Amino acid sequence: MPYQNELADKTSHIDIVQNPDVSEFLSKCHKIDYQEECLQSIGDFFSTPIDNHFHKPENVISIDGSYYEASVRKNFPSKKVGFIKVGAVLLKHASLTAIQGASNFVDPFEVANFKKNNDAYTFVLPSTNIIYDDCEDVQASFRKALDERFDELRDVADNPNSSLRNTLFKMASYLDGCNDSQIRLSKCPCCGDENNVVINIDDMEPKCPHCGKRLFFTDILRVWEIVEDNVSNQGALSRTMNVIERLLAIHYIRTIVENQRDSFTTTLENLCFFIDGPLAIFGEPAKFHSCFMKYLDELNQTMRQQKKTDILMIGIQKTGLINDFLNLIKDKINCGDVFCLTDDFRNKYVNYNKRPVANVTFGNETYFGQDFLYKNKKGNVFVFNVPYPFADKSKEKNFKTEKSRIENYKNIKVYTDLLDDFDCDLYENALVPTVLAHKYTAISLAPGSKVLDLLSKNKIL
Ligand SMILES: [Zn+2]
Repeated sequence: MPYQNELADKTSHIDIVQNPDVSEFLSKCHKIDYQEECLQSIGDFFSTPIDNHFHKPENVISIDGSYYEASVRKNFPSKKVGFIKVGAVLLKHASLTAIQGASNFVDPFEVANFKKNNDAYTFVLPSTNIIYDDCEDVQASFRKALDERFDELRDVADNPNSSLRNTLFKMASYLDGCNDSQIRLSKCPCCGDENNVVINIDDMEPKCPHCGKRLFFTDILRVWEIVEDNVSNQGALSRTMNVIERLLAIHYIRTIVENQRDSFTTTLENLCFFIDGPLAIFGEPAKFHSCFMKYLDELNQTMRQQKKTDILMIGIQKTGLINDFLNLIKDKINCGDVFCLTDDFRNKYVNYNKRPVANVTFGNETYFGQDFLYKNKKGNVFVFNVPYPFADKSKEKNFKTEKSRIENYKNIKVYTDLLDDFDCDLYENALVPTVLAHKYTAISLAPGSKVLDLLSKNKIL
């Protein structure tokens, strides 16, 4: 997803505000605003990140995605194919100086060298009024195509165990009622029966025990529930992209762990994942956030035994209420100071005195990472998100309080150091890894998307 101002918005807000109907409406609205005195001492919430013995990772993998829905026939625009492109750029920390050149601007010639370290995966999915292969409708088509794409994304072409689909299976095995060899769907996508709809990992063509129709591993994501025949399926594409971006990081981690049983901790302590957006899974697949927490915690137990950092993963949030708020208060924060965002602070300041809901913590159903606010040494501000250092969100462990204690994030200085190093002046508060990942994965809305339109036209009609 782009940075603010990365794509200029041609709509001028001035035109809208000057419209008499709009200005009359606005005159009746009450603006919620901050009193200067209540923000005066806000910098006191921030502190210098605690140092630890962990060193900065030598490698960064930055993951970013885009999606697009393309019409396949000029004279029949409501026939559409969906594209999701997710890319991963490997960046060597030592090469950073070369990329940034003398200033903090990214040198395009050096960036070109990174092409060879860039993986981009395109998921072509049937959308409005498109039937795939022998499927009955758009929903079935979407399900089948998604499952095939997950299977095709393999590290070793002839090893199905190395696929993204098997990484999904492994994550699903942490869900209630699932295990290493069997996952359980909440219901059959075809007949809706909720009883005993299970898929065995070895079954290449699993079927529903009630209606006998084909089931797919990726049905467990439940994105199919929002796929419809005759309307745009951008919601389903967006949900799918969100989960693929995060699952791809887990897939790389699983690949490293399974290929380097004896030395994976050394590789992982030298690697940090940059993800576009928060460490959270939204919508229908949301429950997978708890699987990611459990999987990362299992590996972190080994990392900690060997006195190594927890697995490094950072979600960069580029826009939103917290970003707006952080920009508002940035002059009151000392350079190099960080704040571990609490629910109380979020309710009071970011959400304008929102009343807290009892026993519910922010991101309860979606987040697997904690929000931090940081003003780096150059004075740029970042909202970033790092994995919770816990296996689950149980009340017994007082998760709501513990997640907001900065002392629990032993490697926080590694993250803030990276945000100092990767700062670049290309866009406001931009970071080199996210800029590069976006550059190589963006499906440009024009004229690049023309290629996708043409591609789908040639292939389908
Ligand atoms: Zn069924």
